[in-house]
Amino acid sequence: KNIQIAIDGPAGAGKSTVAKIAAEKLQYTYIDTGAMYRALTLKALRTSTDLDSEQAIADLLKDSTIELVPAENGQRVLLDGEDVSEEIRFPNISANVSKVAAHAAMRAIMVDLQHDMAARGGVVMDGRDIGTAVLPQAELKVFMSATVEERARRRFEDNNKRGIESSIEQLQQEIALRDKMDSEREASPLVQAEDAIFLDTTTLSIDEAADAILKLASE
Ligand code: C5P
Repeated sequence: KNIQIAIDGPAGAGKSTVAKIAAEKLQYTYIDTGAMYRALTLKALRTSTDLDSEQAIADLLKDSTIELVPAENGQRVLLDGEDVSEEIRFPNISANVSKVAAHAAMRAIMVDLQHDMAARGGVVMDGRDIGTAVLPQAELKVFMSATVEERARRRFEDNNKRGIESSIEQLQQEIALRDKMDSEREASPLVQAEDAIFLDTTTLSIDEAADAILKLASE
């Protein structure tokens, strides 16, 4: 049977890595909703759109196409047809995305897009509000977390692999600030859904975390 799996949690908990593996094993569609907010943030910065303007940010999304397309080298993120998969991971995007993501009018449009993407077959979707707002009917909801130190360490290694220079201390601050903004915003804040299962990945490997989700999915 095909089910919907919602994976939420704070920045750097390993959600996307683990969700991708689980989706591959289940032959489900994987949807990285954070990448969509990142792509919109990139467009806002490129067009010098006022990041604080609810209306301008909603209008910007209406005028954009954001697509997630499967490819041999992993999922690609297309913004108005342009592959921005690498650019949306740059530090200036991470530093501004929570500001953009706070706007309710834009989020309503984003959630519609995400509904359409999840409409057919099994899906693993990861983000901040999947279990609470996007797929409240999901058969399986997981809230993944880890200590902020461990999450910063993982981001650091991730950045190293991508050739992005960073410092663990700075990453820890950036992650803590982003979590605070995501948790304290009014529109669909980052919060564990009542019926979500908490998964602490601090001491788990990627494969162990993916196995935990696959086991839950098979129950
Ligand atoms: O998952 P990732 O760290 O790439 O997400 C980037 C940002 O996008 C988050 O910090 C949050 O501000 C926003 N986001 C969101 N809702 C989602 C997914 C991401 O607000 N479902």
